[in-house]
Amino acid sequence: MIEFQHVFKSYGRSRNILADINFRVEPGEFVFVSGPSGAGKSTLLKLIGGLEPPSRGSVHVNGHRIDKMPGRARPYLRRAVGVILQDMHLLYDRNAIDNVLLPLAVAGLERRVAATRARAAIEKVGLSGKEDLNPIEMSGGEQQRLAIARAIVNRPAILIADEPTANLDEESARKILEVFRDFNRVGVTTLIASHDRALMARYAGRTLRIEAGRFFDSAGAPA
Ligand code: ADP
Ligand code: ADP
Repeated sequence: MIEFQHVFKSYGRSRNILADINFRVEPGEFVFVSGPSGAGKSTLLKLIGGLEPPSRGSVHVNGHRIDKMPGRARPYLRRAVGVILQDMHLLYDRNAIDNVLLPLAVAGLERRVAATRARAAIEKVGLSGKEDLNPIEMSGGEQQRLAIARAIVNRPAILIADEPTANLDEESARKILEVFRDFNRVGVTTLIASHDRALMARYAGRTLRIEAGRFFDSAGAPA
């Protein structure tokens, strides 16, 4: 589903953020990407979502080699990979459902079909009844769930989220993780970057850890 081979990444002429990264994620896996702030977790996710190109090495996503086709891969990746970045990029000039409708409009879906799908996505993240609220009227946890609804409304095979529980209280964080678990249970390959070790410890599973330029894969050796 995702394969990195000898991947290096630096920004401009800076040092390598990621150096010789090799791993494979199989369909349906639930994987945490951990490490201290600044380690390169966001960078790793952006390489998977095609939002940044690697400096060297190959990246395969959902059967396609994406590192060699920068511009051309984007429309494909937008459908294959749902992305929840740290600043959620919600639009505050429209209500919740219109935020979720946006990717469907971009995909050119008929309006009635799009509306049904958007409502289903909102329901899956537990926000039924809040369709008409402006995101500004929602709590941090609700906004995060809205961002998840928008990311999954195109039914991507892969979901990547960058620190989705940052700035949330424990109860809201737990709810967010449950939402990801639900999508993972129905087959969505899920990668979540987090520096919250306590949170991750509660959800046993594979962890890719980046620390001081080194890479540890708990599937290969105990982390
Ligand atoms: P994390 O998500 O683990 O906090 P990041 O991937 O955001 O780490 O950042 C890793 C390093 O790359 C940091 O030193 C950061 O400053 C640097 N970095 C991230 N994005 C850029 C960019 N667009 N240009 C230059 N440096 C960047
Ligand atoms: P840009 O024009 O800034 O290169 P786009 O117009 O393609 O980027 O994307 C607009 C916003 O949507 C950006 O903030 C980007 O991070 C985000 N984005 C890109 N791909 C996805 C995706 N597959 N799922 C969710 N958000 C995405």
